Amino acid sequence: MRFDTLAVHSVGLDPATRAVAPPIHLSTTFARDEDYVLGEWHYVREANPTQALFEAALAKVEGGSAALAFASGMAAGVAVLQSLPPGSHVVLPEDVYYGYRIAATDFLAPWGFRFTFAAMDEPGALAAAIRPDTRLVWIETPSNPMLKIVDLDQAVAAARAVGASTLADDTFATPALQRPIERGVDIVLHATTKYIGGHSDVHGGALVFAREDAFHARVLHARKHLGAVGSPFHAWLALRGLRSLGCRMERHSRSAHALAAWLSGRPGVSAVHYPGLPGHPGHAVAKRQMSAFGGMLSFQVEGGLERAKDVATRTRLFVPATSLGGVESLIEHRFTVEGPSSKTPPDLLRLSVGLEDPEDLKEDLERALA
Ligand SMILES: *Cc1c(COP(=O)(O)O)cnc(C)c1O
Repeated sequence: MRFDTLAVHSVGLDPATRAVAPPIHLSTTFARDEDYVLGEWHYVREANPTQALFEAALAKVEGGSAALAFASGMAAGVAVLQSLPPGSHVVLPEDVYYGYRIAATDFLAPWGFRFTFAAMDEPGALAAAIRPDTRLVWIETPSNPMLKIVDLDQAVAAARAVGASTLADDTFATPALQRPIERGVDIVLHATTKYIGGHSDVHGGALVFAREDAFHARVLHARKHLGAVGSPFHAWLALRGLRSLGCRMERHSRSAHALAAWLSGRPGVSAVHYPGLPGHPGHAVAKRQMSAFGGMLSFQVEGGLERAKDVATRTRLFVPATSLGGVESLIEHRFTVEGPSSKTPPDLLRLSVGLEDPEDLKEDLERALA
């Protein structure tokens, strides 16, 4: 089956009722039988039927062996780091999602982990950061909010050369546009809060494992006992979103591409960051490893921080809110959101391009910029 078919049919009929839509089981606990023997399920934190449906569907569409759902994208990523041996050396992208930078520097470094932040979109930077004792190379492509592109093939080769594992945060691209496991990545990370949920009403994260190996077992052990598991309701909503992912990503990508091209020619706009533009430094790599370029873009305006914030308050359709991947378009001044330690240019605005008519979105931006 091709991707869209696989996504729609990633969950079958409910065997108990032949319901076409999957059931939701909110029960936190499951009874033993008359011989006091447990069935498949025991307690909600360990595993539960609705979550298991979502995990099986996600593993299928990512081309992985197993998936694990978490309470948030942060919880999913941190569970991987917590499952590495104490004192591990990890390479993170210089512009990694800012929450992971905080998790690394404020929590895991004091616990003995060692991190190197590398500009992984630049040739040679990753190879220079990798050490013989590197255990994990963390990839984020396209990155947030600069839309930088990391070459997945090169990153996998560099990690393998020292026996390190690779993790790819695929939140921006989703399996509809980019399939890191097929390029040799070991673990794929999603904030299901974003495109997989797709409607700005579910908070969660997930990991997809290329192999159901000892490291997968260790992460499962961490989730069970450190407790960062999602809820059955989260899993049910994420599963609902997953089934229409291909169709939504196609429209998100088409509209974002059109807006990026239009913004590039506009006076008052000093830079546009979108991997689909031929002038983007990662365009050739993105073209090789993505089937379309996604619904996220950012741009910089002349006039600095005040001008950028002003534009963010003048749109009528683009909602001034954080997050991304929903049906509605969002505009955000990342520098304000990330705080004083932010490495994002202060004149930058990030757009999550929704499913509205792209002509209306263009007119909205035109009015706000004017
Ligand atoms: C939002 C986001 C996360 C974190 O997900 P939460 O569900 O907010 O914890 C991780 N990576 C990327 C790229 C994100 O956009």
